[in-house]
Amino acid sequence: MPADHDRSREQAPDRRARCPACGASGRRVGEITLRSLVREARRDELGSLSEFAFCGAMGCELAYFAADGRTVRKSDVKVRIGVKEASSPRPLCYCFDYSAEDLEAEAGAGSGAIVQEITARCREGLDRCAETNPRGACCLGDVRRFAGVSGRSTLAAACCAEPKPGN
Ligand SMILES: [Zn+2]
Repeated sequence: MPADHDRSREQAPDRRARCPACGASGRRVGEITLRSLVREARRDELGSLSEFAFCGAMGCELAYFAADGRTVRKSDVKVRIGVKEASSPRPLCYCFDYSAEDLEAEAGAGSGAIVQEITARCREGLDRCAETNPRGACCLGDVRRFAGVSGRSTLAAACCAEPKPGN
């Protein structure tokens, strides 16, 4: 779903990276994401962390891949990657600790309270998506998809696409 877009780091279409394991297209992630989420032993083996993309495909064993053939498996990542899992627990929001299960539990009420809370906290600048979310970007696109909230995720783009000081 082209629900969101990366304004500053968009690659030319012919450079769109594809996961060597499953063929899904992946988006580049910043070094800061791999530095904080890849297990230390694997991180040391990799050397440079600057050329990796994230594979968010369900069931695929790879979390990150680079054009030169280096890969990072799910098991080399410190956190469980909810969007890649079919079974519980499936964490989606790593900054404020919400899972797909939380959203499913809320769905009956139809309040959208979790989406609202995450949005509000992001607006306050409390999110650290690049360091906590394996996707390396705001979770709101994923959260909205699981919550069944319609509409474009412009909030996700607005709250977390801006580079933060110190990155
Ligand atoms: Zn893959």
